[in-house]
Amino acid sequence: MSNRKLLISSLNLLRRRSRPISTLPTNRTPKSDPPIILDHSSRQSAHSRVPKKPIHGSKLDCAVFGRDFSSTSSGLGNCWSCGAIAASKPFLFCDICRSVQPFDQSVDYFQIFGLERAFAIDDTGMESKYKDWQKKLHPDLVHTKSEKEKEYAAEQSARVIDAYRTLRSPLLRAIYLMQLEGARVDEEQTVSDPELLAEIMEIREAVEEAANPPALQQIQFQVKGSLDHWSKSFENAFKKRKFEEAITSIQRMTYYSRINEEIMRKL
Ligand SMILES: [Zn+2]
Repeated sequence: MSNRKLLISSLNLLRRRSRPISTLPTNRTPKSDPPIILDHSSRQSAHSRVPKKPIHGSKLDCAVFGRDFSSTSSGLGNCWSCGAIAASKPFLFCDICRSVQPFDQSVDYFQIFGLERAFAIDDTGMESKYKDWQKKLHPDLVHTKSEKEKEYAAEQSARVIDAYRTLRSPLLRAIYLMQLEGARVDEEQTVSDPELLAEIMEIREAVEEAANPPALQQIQFQVKGSLDHWSKSFENAFKKRKFEEAITSIQRMTYYSRINEEIMRKL
């Protein structure tokens, strides 16, 4: 491997590791410390909003809770515009008057896609559901409406994008599930495991030295195997509520995901 490539690779690693890591639930602002930063898509997912666990005392929370929610005996609320009672959760959009509804802190990403809150998800219908939401919530569709509704659309649409990206990625989904349980995930902690680090360094070198796409694909096959292994390990630990084990699995998934991203960039 050339010295230049090695330097760039090392710099990239350092740059990534120097980012602030925080998995505290945050609300609606990319300026908050993100829970995990791996690449552009995960940066988008960094401001995962975790229901029921707001950071108290921030201006943003005041904005969230100061909204004009009105509740009914059904507990699902009414449309802010026409007053219709929400038929089901999540109530992001009123089908009667076609108004985008305000942000609802209690709705999680799984509910947005009608999925059970679990690591193993059936994502076959996710893309069409995602498109359906964007057809209703996209900010461009409400450009003639009030400033208030434009704001709702911007928030809801961004949230659906974030939910889609988070749930589609096994790693981000795992981290999000832990956040929903109120657990803090620091996926950078594995630096103390020499065996893992040696393996990762070896794979990185092989990636750097891979002469052609088939060689890269072969490495990728192995990396994906490891990623699957640790994903299953996370799933089992999470089901048994062994959160420490679950976090260890996440930390390993993080390493293999990063290498996979590196391979994808080179392919
Ligand atoms: Zn309505």
